[in-house]
Amino acid sequence: MIHHRDHLYIGGDWLRPRTDSRIAVVSPNTEQEIGSIPEARPQDVDLAVEAARAALPGWSDTAPGERAALLRRVAELLVRDKEEIARVETLDTGKTLKESRIDVDDVTAVFRYYADLADKEAGRIVDVGLAHVVSRVVPVPVGVCALITPWNYPLLQLSWKVAPCLAAGNTCVIKPSEVTPLTSIMLVHLLEEAGVPEGVVNLVLGDGPTVGAPLTEHDDVDMVSFTGGLATGQAIIRASATTVKRVAVELGGKNPLIVFDDADLDKAADALMGSGYGAAGERCMAVSVAVPVGKETADRLVERLIPRVESLKVGPSTDSSADFGPLVTREALERVKGYVDLGVQEGAKLLVDGRNFKMQGYENGFYMGGCLFDEVTPNMRIYKEEIFGPVLSVVRANTYEEALALPNDHEYGNGVAIFTRDGDAARDFAARVNVGMVGINVPIPVPIAYYTFGGWKASAFGDLNQHGPDAFRFYTKTKTVTARWPSGIKDGAEFVIPTMR
Ligand code: NAD
Repeated sequence: MIHHRDHLYIGGDWLRPRTDSRIAVVSPNTEQEIGSIPEARPQDVDLAVEAARAALPGWSDTAPGERAALLRRVAELLVRDKEEIARVETLDTGKTLKESRIDVDDVTAVFRYYADLADKEAGRIVDVGLAHVVSRVVPVPVGVCALITPWNYPLLQLSWKVAPCLAAGNTCVIKPSEVTPLTSIMLVHLLEEAGVPEGVVNLVLGDGPTVGAPLTEHDDVDMVSFTGGLATGQAIIRASATTVKRVAVELGGKNPLIVFDDADLDKAADALMGSGYGAAGERCMAVSVAVPVGKETADRLVERLIPRVESLKVGPSTDSSADFGPLVTREALERVKGYVDLGVQEGAKLLVDGRNFKMQGYENGFYMGGCLFDEVTPNMRIYKEEIFGPVLSVVRANTYEEALALPNDHEYGNGVAIFTRDGDAARDFAARVNVGMVGINVPIPVPIAYYTFGGWKASAFGDLNQHGPDAFRFYTKTKTVTARWPSGIKDGAEFVIPTMR
C-alpha cells in the first residue's frame, strides 16, 4: 500500500472527508489495491472554491518574484523526491519507470520555466502621443481556476496547469483523475512544503459526475482548464457556457505518421514502434496510424514492422527492460481488445494479434501484446476513433495528396508526422496539413517546457495553447486603464465617442 495523507486539501488544511465513501486505487500490474482516495461531496467543492476565492486577493497581490521563488522551491523538492514520485507514478499508471523519471524531470523543468516567467510578463504603457492621455494595459489574474486532469499523464498534466496558474497570481481547485490520483496528492504536499499560502491551492478528490461537474458548473469559478477525453471536454465546454467562464480543453487524438518512399524505412519503422507502442499507446500524442505512400513503400514498411511488433517486450511497469507495461485499468484493457475485435469485423487485416498475451506471474494484470493492422481504411471505426492502446493501423495511400487528405479530413488534429528526405515535400506538408503539432522526421512532436502544446479541431478548444508563454496568457486577463489628466479635460459634454483630443 502506498501511504499518504489522503484527506482533501482545503484552505491550507488536510480535511477529513464528510463520508466514509472511498475509491480504490488499483495497480495495473496486479489488480491489487495500492491505495484509496476519499470521495469528496459537492459541499466539499463549495468549500474549496470558497477557500480559493478568499485567498485570491492576497496571492494576486504577492510580488511576482515571490511567486517565482515558491515555484523554484517546488522544483527543488521535485529533484529531492524524484525517485519516490517516479516509483509511485509507475505503480499507479502502469507506465515504465524510465518514462516516469522523464515525467518528473519534465515537471521540474515546467516549474522552473514558469518561475522564470512569473516576473517577466509586465504590462504595457500605451502612449498615444497626446500629452494629457495615457493608457496602461495590465495583465490581471483570471481568478479562481478549476484544474481537471486525466489519468495518463497525471503529474505532467497537473504541472502544465498549476505552475502557470500560480505564476500568474491565480488560486485554484485541483481535481485529478480518480484513476491515478497518487502523484497529484504528492505534488500538493510539495506545494504545501514549499510554502504555498493557505487557500491558494486546494485539492478535491473523486469522480467526474460528483466532483468534476459541480466544479465546472460553479458560479464562483472563473475558468476551467481541462485535459481528457472528447465527450467530457464537450460537457465541460457546455457547462462553462452557462456561467460564461473562460475555458480551455485539450482532448484526444488520432495521430498519423506518413512515410515517403525516400525515407529510411528502418528508421521510420523504429519511430513507429516507439511512438505507437511506447506507454502502451496511452498518450494523446501516440502515433496510432502509419501511412506509407505507394504500394512498394507499404510492403517494405509492413515487412519491417511485423518482426518488431512480435518481439515487443511487455512487462511489469517496474521492469527496466520492458518496452511498455500494462494498460491502466481492466476497463481500458477490455475496451482496447474490443477495438481489435471490431477491426477484424470491419475487414482490416490483423497481422499481429496481442489480445491473448498473458504476463507470467502477473495473471491478473491488465496486459496485452502489441497489435498491428494492415489495410485499414478511413471509413472504419478503428481509424476514426481514438483506441488508446498498443494498436497500430496501417492505412495505405497511393499518392502524397491522398496521404495529406487523411489528417486533414480527420475529426482530430493533435499531432502528425512525416518521414522523408525530401525537404521541399516536408515544407509543403507542414504548410498544408490541418493539425496543431507537426513533426518532420520526429515521430511525436511533443514540445519541451518552453515550447507550446496545442491540438486543432476536435483535439482542443480555446484559442491559447497549453504550456509555454501561451499558458501564462491563458491564466491572465487584460485590463486597460485609460487616464486623462484634468488639464486635458475640455469644458462641456462630449456626445461623440471619446477621441481624447
Ligand atoms: P476523461 O475525460 O474520462 O477524464 C478526465 C478528467 O475529467 C478526470 O479527472 C475525470 O474525473 C474528469 N471528469 C469526468 N467527467 C467529468 C465531468 N462531467 N465534469 C468535469 N470533470 C469530469 O479522460 P481520461 O480517460 O482520464 O483521459 C484520457 C483522455 O485524455 C484521452 O482521450 C487522451 O487523448 C486525453 N489526453 C489529452 C491530452 C492533450 O493534451 N491533448 C493529454 C493527455 C490526455
